[in-house]
Amino acid sequence: MKKKLVIIIIVSILVIYIFQIIVKKDESFTANWNINDSDMEVKGMNNVSRNVIDDWRITLVNYENSLPDNFKVELANIDSTRQFDKRAINELLTMVKDAKKDGVLDIWVQSAYRSISYQQGLFDEKVNKYLALGKTREEAEKLTLQTINKPGSSEHNLGLAVDFNYVNYDFEKTKAFKWLQENAENYGFILRYRKDKESITKVAYEPWHWRYVGSENAKKINELDMCLEEYIKYIS
Ligand SMILES: [Zn+2]
Repeated sequence: MKKKLVIIIIVSILVIYIFQIIVKKDESFTANWNINDSDMEVKGMNNVSRNVIDDWRITLVNYENSLPDNFKVELANIDSTRQFDKRAINELLTMVKDAKKDGVLDIWVQSAYRSISYQQGLFDEKVNKYLALGKTREEAEKLTLQTINKPGSSEHNLGLAVDFNYVNYDFEKTKAFKWLQENAENYGFILRYRKDKESITKVAYEPWHWRYVGSENAKKINELDMCLEEYIKYIS
């Protein structure tokens, strides 16, 4: 009888001990979850800005926001010489293909991704041209900046911008331009440097330069009648 009681007590103690271990494990498991959860909550707090600013498609590159020198992007080939961000190339190619399907035959990609060092070469070349014309370095750089972005501050360095056709103002009068104005947003592209937004973008109007931002963003930007700078501010 006494032996039985001792066994019952020992078994009970063991059961309680094991039960405690299980509960503890479960608690630490729950605790971990809580950490993750609150972490998610912190992220969720500024939900809109965070999600959107984390959106690679609307990375802002302009006179105030340069890419780091070590910026890397995975590229895919448009053709043998031109490249674009791998994540968006299908939309670019489909857009051009669909334009052609709609009878817009005069559309082609003139320039897309440029490495920062290539951009530097373009910049220096233009500065030197102005220097040769007798401008001071300061004047030459200022003049160059009207048409060429500082290396690292061009959207072409990002791999999400594309220049069409001859990169001149005649593009505005083409069927291609008209088609892009009506359809580009469906493929995630916006006219990046609008005439009426020059004071914000600090870049002269460029009908040939289109920027990939993803179709939801593109539609929203057009609907709000904003440029990318305004849109980012708006959603932040
Ligand atoms: Zn461009």
